[in-house]
Amino acid sequence: MKICLGIESTAHTFGIGIVDEKGNILANVKEVYTTKQGGIVPLEAAEHHEKVKEKVLKLALEKAGIKLDDINVVSFSQGPGLAPCLLKGLFLAKKLGKELSIDLVPVNHCIAHLEIGKLLCKAKDPVMLYVSGANTQVISYASKRYRVFGETLDIGVGNFIDSFARYCGIGFPGGPKIEELAKKSKNLVELPYSVKGMDVAFSGLLTNLKQKYDKGYKLSDLAFSLQEYAFAMLTEVSERAMAFLRKEELLLAGGVACNKRLQEMCKIMCKERNAKFFCPPNEFLVDNGAMIAWLGLLMFKANQKVKADEADIAPYQRSDEVKVSWLN
Ligand code: AMP
Ligand code: MG
Repeated sequence: MKICLGIESTAHTFGIGIVDEKGNILANVKEVYTTKQGGIVPLEAAEHHEKVKEKVLKLALEKAGIKLDDINVVSFSQGPGLAPCLLKGLFLAKKLGKELSIDLVPVNHCIAHLEIGKLLCKAKDPVMLYVSGANTQVISYASKRYRVFGETLDIGVGNFIDSFARYCGIGFPGGPKIEELAKKSKNLVELPYSVKGMDVAFSGLLTNLKQKYDKGYKLSDLAFSLQEYAFAMLTEVSERAMAFLRKEELLLAGGVACNKRLQEMCKIMCKERNAKFFCPPNEFLVDNGAMIAWLGLLMFKANQKVKADEADIAPYQRSDEVKVSWLN
């Protein structure tokens, strides 16, 4: 039985997951870089990863109840992500690859979200709505690649929510705080709604919310309305992608997908069109090492690997650049 160790380090999370060939998750350990003010300073995040990496590795092996020698495959997040953070994952992967004398598997972070969702939810061929801090994309498999059908034209939905929360002084991360505040209101305030085909945009919504906050609108009303508008936009583009591709499954991924109102809207949309709705547990919605390990294993079995010396990061990699030999 092959066992893969996967390293996630695209942004604030340094995670190590250990997964076996049958899809059993033996360990999923992480340490997250946080700041009081919010926002991520790439070099500081990388410094954080450097500090915690040995501890996370040790804990993951302990949790899995195995020794380093038992690992047959090592995979790492190749991109998209912040270069200084990605390099920390790469260096650890290279070190382990050399120690174990094995090749490495470079993994695309977005596709890893999708493949772990398929594994955990038993989805077959979903449209994935991937909503995190920096990323907002609608991704699905078509013509032998994972393609981006819709995305944000400006900022990611998580960063949009965090920016507004920061502006109102309610702290970081803003998503869970806005969700709590939104529960206290049912008063829908009119806001701009920005959908272009299968793309969305949030900067106009952010400016408008800030202006209304300055004018003295109640924060709970703004939080409620922010969710109704932003999540309706995301649900609409997901539905459009499902209709366009004639797909009957929707899968959520990313930190913002922890939001119960977003889940509810997507669930209603799926029910109305007789489609299946899938949402993995929060531990696997957010960035994690297990998803890198699982996709690493799939790619390794399809012989999609590189020599440890030749492995590199790809900070701007897009999903459709990746050959998908494990499905073809
Ligand atoms: P990620 O980049 O995938 O780790 O996700 C982080 C983002 O998820 C941050 O922008 C958070 O504000 C956001 N987030 C976390 N929980 C929630 C929630 N319950 N509702 C909305 N956004 C959330
Ligand atoms: Mg992510």
